[in-house]
Amino acid sequence: MPELPEVETIRKELVKQIIGKYISDIHILLDRSFVNHTQYDISELIGNITQIDRYGKYLVMQVNQSFQILIHLRMTGKLIYCPFQQQNSFKTNHIRLIFNFQTGDCLLFDDVRTFGKVEIFSSDLDIKSYKNIGIDALDEDFNFNKLKAICMNKKTQIKVLLLNQNLIAGIGNIYAQEILFDAKVSPLIQVNQLTDKELKRIVVSTKKILSLAVKYNGTSISDFRRVDDKTGEFQDFLQVYGKITCPVCKSDILKIRQGGRSTNYCPKCQI
Ligand SMILES: [Zn+2]
Repeated sequence: MPELPEVETIRKELVKQIIGKYISDIHILLDRSFVNHTQYDISELIGNITQIDRYGKYLVMQVNQSFQILIHLRMTGKLIYCPFQQQNSFKTNHIRLIFNFQTGDCLLFDDVRTFGKVEIFSSDLDIKSYKNIGIDALDEDFNFNKLKAICMNKKTQIKVLLLNQNLIAGIGNIYAQEILFDAKVSPLIQVNQLTDKELKRIVVSTKKILSLAVKYNGTSISDFRRVDDKTGEFQDFLQVYGKITCPVCKSDILKIRQGGRSTNYCPKCQI
């Protein structure tokens, strides 16, 4: 599932390709991928893309200050930019939506497992509040004091808390494991028992790992592709996710289940 670095990689590439472009038509191939389209007359959903933002794992395209398109890629969703309506020659059978631009190029929403969603909202709606999206993990206001406040009085394990998008947005299963390994914090610690030093290390590692992953265009373990269908490169930097031996102390990496998700960690380095 694309996490903050993958979605940010897509956002940056979309900014280069489609800002200022005029959406002349939206072609719907699978109704349920476009959640609330029946509330709108599709012929009215046209206009210039003026801005593309990211809130955690969500992308939001502003169109003409009149409406905004929310895109959540979930498991296997991809956005693929096609320079000149090459969608017929594109090697995929999983295109769910096509945003056609006046210039003859288009943006495909491709999604094998169809968990991804596109939704339209009026421009004046505050999507972050509406979707109850927590503070973005790369927001400068996400700092020691903020994390301490989030953790106060909670007995959740830190790994599980990091995945809660309503509290901190953008971190998924791969980066939560990498962040805790980098911070030398056990994924099993209850958050109300974390020391100030540990909380500070978690914030520093969050910024470090996510920024580095953005720099290397995200992690392509299985499905993630950039808008030009290239892979990211951060998989080469992973330390614990999918690993058997700790790169630091050479201990066996432990694999456990937490909140229905797998967690890899080093029992010697992360105590
Ligand atoms: Zn170790």
